[in-house]
Amino acid sequence: MKSSYTARTEAQRKRVFKRFYIHLMYWAKYLAVNHWKLEITMAHGPTEVKEVSISEDPDYAGAVVDFDPSYERANIVLCTQDDTHWSDQSLEEIAAHELVHIIWSAPSELISDKVAKSPAYRILMEAATTHTTRALMGMYAISSGSSRRSRGS
Ligand SMILES: [Zn+2]
Repeated sequence: MKSSYTARTEAQRKRVFKRFYIHLMYWAKYLAVNHWKLEITMAHGPTEVKEVSISEDPDYAGAVVDFDPSYERANIVLCTQDDTHWSDQSLEEIAAHELVHIIWSAPSELISDKVAKSPAYRILMEAATTHTTRALMGMYAISSGSSRRSRGS
């Protein structure tokens, strides 16, 4: 396992995709969504990324998910650029984050398209997804009593 991933060359993109896939499979099992039919692909560079991204930002790097909760199907696209540089942890967070979106996709179907597509809803859903993912990954670790004592408080 490499400690960081870039995506400038074809070989680097294969490595980053393989690692992303491993994280996705682990988290799909952990989050109990491994029965979903997941199609996982990759887009590289401004032209390809603009085609798949809803952000309209051609320089976007990360992942986008498009889902159909009725059929438990989702397409996940890993978007990279020539200057993409991810740690293994950030790559894992991207994978887990997309799967948390999948968990929230079913209740999202109950709200109107107008609300679902509103910037306010998107911002709140994105923040909730990020927050949940980071908590699941233990990124908000609480200092233990012993470490507090070792700092002399
Ligand atoms: Zn998101």
